[in-house]
Amino acid sequence: MATARVSTTTYPFAQPSGAIILFGPPGAGKGTQAEKIADRYGVSKISTGDMIRQEIRSGSDLGQDVEARLAAGQLIDDATVNRLVEARLEVEDCKGGFLLDGYPRTGPQAGAFAKVLERKGCGLVVIEVRVGYNEIVKRITGRRLCSQCGAIYNVHSQPPKVSEVCDVCGHRPLGIRSDDREEVVKERLRLYEAETMPVFEVFRAAGRTIHQVDGASSAEEVSERIFGILEAERSHDYSKESV
Ligand SMILES: [Zn+2]
Repeated sequence: MATARVSTTTYPFAQPSGAIILFGPPGAGKGTQAEKIADRYGVSKISTGDMIRQEIRSGSDLGQDVEARLAAGQLIDDATVNRLVEARLEVEDCKGGFLLDGYPRTGPQAGAFAKVLERKGCGLVVIEVRVGYNEIVKRITGRRLCSQCGAIYNVHSQPPKVSEVCDVCGHRPLGIRSDDREEVVKERLRLYEAETMPVFEVFRAAGRTIHQVDGASSAEEVSERIFGILEAERSHDYSKESV
């Protein structure tokens, strides 16, 4: 099993117990919000990628199995991902609540996860940061990258002092990553909806609320709304609820 360093820092806000899952389309600022939640409550952030790397490093049977499959170019199936998550949740740093990133990604993963939480008597708060299609396209297609030094800009929210010239190194013109072109953004958004909808269906069928937060305003305002939801949910007695 994986081990993780247990933080002894005292956080000013009581930790929400159980699992927090944050969803959001590309460009909605989900990563920023995940950082803010972790900073405020001291909950562990668990990403699927980190979890896989940790389990491999631990040398467990599961880790060796995953390593062999990756080496053979195989995908990690749902059942294995579920076992990884279940093992990870046993680590001490998850006792005070945890934030999942990139899981569950499919309906069957969500179903298995709901059962794990039920067995553990563990709470769950699901939050989706929603941003309208046009706003997302504007945010993402506005990104600019300096190919010389790697500095990142946004023509709408964080423009360079001189149009198309890098503030840091003076290189010009700034570029657009191929992932940030409009046709690619459209496809990424379509994929997000297609992946996320079955997950939400499973949670809703299990009686869970999907809290939707408007992500169009500033990161600070979005955080305040998320904190409000987490703190309202914290007072629930999950042991009396079925997942
Ligand atoms: Zn530069």
